Amino acid sequence: MKTLDIVTLFPEIIDFYFENTPINKKINKAELEVNTHQLRDFTEEKHNKVDDNQYGGEAGMVLMAQPLINSINFITNFRKQKPFTILMSPQGEKINQSILSEIFNHNHLAFVCGRYEGVDERFIEEKVDVELSVGDFVLSGGELPTILTIEALLRFIPGTLGNRDSFLNDSFGENFISQLKGPVYTRPPMLNGRKVPDILLSGDHKKIQEWRKKISEKRTQSRRNDLLK
Ligand code: SAH
Repeated sequence: MKTLDIVTLFPEIIDFYFENTPINKKINKAELEVNTHQLRDFTEEKHNKVDDNQYGGEAGMVLMAQPLINSINFITNFRKQKPFTILMSPQGEKINQSILSEIFNHNHLAFVCGRYEGVDERFIEEKVDVELSVGDFVLSGGELPTILTIEALLRFIPGTLGNRDSFLNDSFGENFISQLKGPVYTRPPMLNGRKVPDILLSGDHKKIQEWRKKISEKRTQSRRNDLLK
């Protein structure tokens, strides 16, 4: 049984995703439990305040450490174990398939979504196991990065994809480690003068595999040479 606890000021965004994503319907409820937690429920301040001006004179609000620490303590009591705690942050390690597969080994995960100028550093020191970034750009909140990370993680659960092979055969999958997958085609065999490569219609599975390997290498070289280093 895996559990995902998500701390956010906007639980509706995450709940909406889980209510509507097709992958969710394939997940066995005994296998995965997802809970969102409203950060405001953990504040000790008046008026449910969770943020304050940042020290040092720069503009912008910062999420206070105490409600964040309280939320992780609550989840720890509830799960009877400290969750492996992930803070979404543009200053974190950039996620990729191999980082995700390490994270997938933990049974209890907590995701913390930042907002405004980010979170008080002392929360990170006290509770966060890893900071993860979804890329070198800045969003307004950690909700979309959390959804993105969770969607990628759910694909590791056997049975969430209709076909296990599609996981292994995707870009960065076990059959294409560090490589892009290459092009795919469906009906019709001819479209506006563009033909599906003959090899794919040949039925020769060995040759098709060789072709895929070659075209994947070529595409990776031309588009993402950095992956081959
Ligand atoms: N002032 C911070 C950015 C805050 S953005 C800085 O300069 O580093 C507000 C929140 O959005 C962050 O706390 C984080 O949770 C989320 N966020 C923004 N960009 C992100 C990214 N690339 N990856 C992961 N989380 C991100």
